[in-house]
Amino acid sequence: MLALRWHGRRDIRLDIVDIPAVDRPIDVLLAVEACGICGTDIEEWREGPIAIPAEFVQGEAQRALVLGHEFCGRVIDAGRDAPFERGQLVAVEVNIPCGSCAACRDQRSNNCPSVVALGLQDNGGLAEFVVVPASSCIAVAESVDPRVLAFAEPLAVAVHAVSRINLQPRDSIAIFGAGAIGLLLALLFRNSGHSVTLVECLAARRELASQLGFHVIDTELAGQKRAEFDACFEATGNPSAISDAVDATRPGGSVVLLGVSTRDLGLSAWRLVEGELSLIASKSHTMKDFAEAVEALVSGAIDVSAFPLELFPLEDALLAFAGVMAQPDAYVKRMMVALPLMGTNG
Ligand SMILES: [Zn+2]
Ligand SMILES: [Zn+2]
Repeated sequence: MLALRWHGRRDIRLDIVDIPAVDRPIDVLLAVEACGICGTDIEEWREGPIAIPAEFVQGEAQRALVLGHEFCGRVIDAGRDAPFERGQLVAVEVNIPCGSCAACRDQRSNNCPSVVALGLQDNGGLAEFVVVPASSCIAVAESVDPRVLAFAEPLAVAVHAVSRINLQPRDSIAIFGAGAIGLLLALLFRNSGHSVTLVECLAARRELASQLGFHVIDTELAGQKRAEFDACFEATGNPSAISDAVDATRPGGSVVLLGVSTRDLGLSAWRLVEGELSLIASKSHTMKDFAEAVEALVSGAIDVSAFPLELFPLEDALLAFAGVMAQPDAYVKRMMVALPLMGTNG
């Protein structure tokens, strides 16, 4: 089968590899139907390994990793104990926790010290086929568009971030970063009736956000927002945006960090203590968040049909990466590999 594999920094290849086998009775083999490519994948290409473990880059056992952590697929083969039928369309929660540690028992599987993310720490969905644990799959109706279902992972990131603070109905919210996660957060807040302002530096993204009906301002103006919002969600990871988010939060309010960056925050404790701000991190999502995201997409409560997609067949997936590198500021569309005919009719 074809698989897009990370071999090292700036070294991603379209390889021909064996179709993985269902070795355990609890696993299923899926034919991938759609897989989103997001900033995390781009960062692993450009700067990686970040989330990719060291074993993939050093030592004798060095091996390549199939990327792709935002995917859905159709069941092709199921182990003895996997309760799925051949042909079923499933969304895949890519975080595979140990299931037995204190965090897992406490329904905080995203805090599991042994959690493995498919597509970052084990083989993911940018391939024709992938083997996943049945317990990570949620079956959906045949009529669901796989390209919509592939939004479940980023939507689960947004669902988890919202769950990190106790918002009141009248709270005003700012979201820093109008990429996919920022827009999905904004859709969640539109549903909950909250007033939302998006803050974005790229004009093309601001345009898309306002086309989607959101109030959006240029990052330049965000510096003038002082203590205006009850809560700020920071989805860029950029230290200057985090600093703006801190300034824009009212005393006693919350700043939720979901943007990933390895750069230093450069914040003094006083800036938080003075305003008695809560600085809260939000990491990925749990199975509960993921199930909520799938339900919201399937029911139409979250409608992603207005998100512009740029679709690639798997054999052209490298073009998606090359395109972003060539014009990083021009990419507002969501890149997705779609394999629409794989595995249909069982
Ligand atoms: Zn992602
Ligand atoms: Zn665990």
